[in-house]
Amino acid sequence: MFISLEELKLHRIQVKKTYEVGALDYHSDDFRQIGALNVEATAELLGSEIRIWGHLGTRLEAVCDRCLRPVELPAETDFDLAYRPIESIAREEEVEISPDELEVGFYAGEGIDLADVVTEQVNLFMPMKVVCRADCRGLCPVCGTDLNVTSCRCRTVASDSPFASLLGG
Ligand SMILES: [Zn+2]
Ligand SMILES: [Zn+2]
Repeated sequence: MFISLEELKLHRIQVKKTYEVGALDYHSDDFRQIGALNVEATAELLGSEIRIWGHLGTRLEAVCDRCLRPVELPAETDFDLAYRPIESIAREEEVEISPDELEVGFYAGEGIDLADVVTEQVNLFMPMKVVCRADCRGLCPVCGTDLNVTSCRCRTVASDSPFASLLGG
């Protein structure tokens, strides 16, 4: 769904859209969308700046960093974004970054594709590290046993143990 400058010049645009699984390309191997993504947003033109704010919700699946099992992550996030024309950088216009938390991006051409806004927000939502639960014990680094399920006979010290450094990591 394309939000065009042409239309924004006339009025605010309110969008409500559902992206089914597979409809969006997140350019990431770290997670995938496993439920429909619903987004509601309002776009407005302020001078040459496009403001877009709203809410999106979906379900994502990533892999636990420790035990490699799939983890389902409900994703609900609000966004409030501003996009300036890319030419405003080239012309070295004075760009006043607002003091609030507003994120500023840039657009090129005749507007913004809502899909780009959504995929960027989902990527930002993803945590750097995903764990299935805070106390996930992970896999034994020696034999690969899932230590949440069973124990093994390897004598290893978990790397987050205070004794790990004594053993040289
Ligand atoms: Zn885990
Ligand atoms: Zn083991």
